[in-house]
Amino acid sequence: MLRALLPDTMIIAALDIIDREGVVKYKTSWGRHHYEVMGTTSTYTVFPHLDVASTAVSSYCTCPSFAFAVLISENHLMCKHVLAVCLADRWSRCVVRPIEDDDLLLKFAGHVSP
Ligand SMILES: [Zn+2]
Repeated sequence: MLRALLPDTMIIAALDIIDREGVVKYKTSWGRHHYEVMGTTSTYTVFPHLDVASTAVSSYCTCPSFAFAVLISENHLMCKHVLAVCLADRWSRCVVRPIEDDDLLLKFAGHVSP
């Protein structure tokens, strides 16, 4: 089923990220989850479940290929980071770390400021 929607190379890349324990799931004290994926050159923030019913895109990743392949050219449904988060979450293969509310806010602030 996965193969019909996603290229083999993306599935292999996602499995590779999970193997390297590259999916980090931050857990706040109030039960919110925040996902980060270590790419080869940078760390990306992934939102696997956007609650936006009006768009075709149900997930979001801060990597450049998500912007190009998913949002602009619409060639792919997701990038390897989103896929890695979905699979790692389902298989309980995320690296789970607690995070303070203030630290989470700092992370978000870091993404919106220039
Ligand atoms: Zn990505």
